Amino acid sequence: MSSKPDPQRMEKIVSLCKRRGFIFQSSEIYGGLNGFWDYGPLGVELKNNLKQYWWRVMVRERDDVVGLDGSILMNRAVWKASGHEDTFSDPMVDCRTCKARLRADQLIEKSGVKQCPNCGGKDLTEARAFNLMLKTFIGATEDESAVTYLRPETAQSIFVQFKNVLDTSRKKLPFGIAQIGKAFRNEINPRNFTFRSREFEQMELEYFCRAEQGLDLLAYWLKERLRFYQDIGITRQRLHVIDVLETERAFYSQGTFDIEYDFPFGRQELEGVAYRTDYDLMQHQKASGKSLEYFDEETKQKFVPHVVEPSAGVDRTVLALICEAYSEDEAPDEKGKMETRIVLRFHPRMAPIKCGIFPLLKNKEQLVAKAKEIVDLLRPQMNVFYDESGAIGRRYRRQDEAGTPFGVTVDFETLGEKDAALRDTVTLRERDSMKQERVKISELSQLLLTRVA
Ligand code: ATP
Repeated sequence: MSSKPDPQRMEKIVSLCKRRGFIFQSSEIYGGLNGFWDYGPLGVELKNNLKQYWWRVMVRERDDVVGLDGSILMNRAVWKASGHEDTFSDPMVDCRTCKARLRADQLIEKSGVKQCPNCGGKDLTEARAFNLMLKTFIGATEDESAVTYLRPETAQSIFVQFKNVLDTSRKKLPFGIAQIGKAFRNEINPRNFTFRSREFEQMELEYFCRAEQGLDLLAYWLKERLRFYQDIGITRQRLHVIDVLETERAFYSQGTFDIEYDFPFGRQELEGVAYRTDYDLMQHQKASGKSLEYFDEETKQKFVPHVVEPSAGVDRTVLALICEAYSEDEAPDEKGKMETRIVLRFHPRMAPIKCGIFPLLKNKEQLVAKAKEIVDLLRPQMNVFYDESGAIGRRYRRQDEAGTPFGVTVDFETLGEKDAALRDTVTLRERDSMKQERVKISELSQLLLTRVA
């Protein structure tokens, strides 16, 4: 896959996502809802694997990070203090010709003249600020006093709960609070499949520290986050780090890196890693009148900590995983003739189904019974899929398309009919190499667990 945009490849990916049950349009039978998506049976497994792995390496395997699960709706005062109510907006332009609403930075420019990307129209309004927060009302009266917003990021509940978490976890600086959860933005122009949605999930860490540690920790977290993407199967060459210029950073940030990925629709942001100084805690301390200070027992000093924030998108990473995994190669069909094979080469750790289990023939009771025994054996440890219908080659192909890294076939040798030494062994097929090995059923679960961990 090159870094050049490849709309055809993207079309194939979108259609595979629907055909195999990764991602569906929300409310599809009613014509859909622009910017909203539902994850199907395979998509939800992939997404859960990603979130669980993030939680494992960012929280559970570390002594210095604890978790939080905050509410989506918060007191409106939070969004006033954070600056979102006044400034969380994109510049919006209307095209008077086709009536499209456009983000000002998405206009195209020809010979110095700005044009509508939809119709080429040049009759455009001046840009005006459009607030991206989705407004709602709490309680029975729909007046100003009942207004709040669906959170546009998960981070604010971490800042607002900083003191409670500090007091109950008794962590010492530097330490972090992590959260995975839904966020909502009324994007002017949702596009590129799930990449820019109006409802999405974020995986955010707020890592609190002393001022003098901020820049070093920014570099540390950038490195950690790049390693994370490689550990879930994203090629380093398709990841790009942008050192965001001071003029383009939030005014309070002393350093921001964007991690971008070469999607088939172009190079786009997956995650932002930002050193936000003490801006967030200071804002909430000022607005709430409550101390958000940290007391250093050694120096006996009280101060408001600084923070480094790696903020990643679940949906964008799921999309990157699918784009990265999608490939076409050649494999023999039932008669040995080569045909095009679509295969999702997920890292086994991310794959929605870890192992397909197939009795060679569905009308041989003993084969079916043995295969179901293996399903019961593996099911408590991993997501497996039993399939008895169709020729074995077809069943392999279906699992290749779902990205299942391993396939187990129960055949007559498993029953010990040909060679007693092969009784209770199965064929284990690996998706990418299509290589097969003979494995004892008693060793299967341990072997698979080490390969999908
Ligand atoms: P963009 O410039 O693409 O709008 P952003 O810089 O506003 O993104 P942040 O506010 O830094 O994004 O949010 C952190 C992360 O949340 C992003 O890197 C992205 O992975 C995810 N994210 C933000 N907006 C969306 C969206 N509309 N749809 C899906 N994911 C999103």
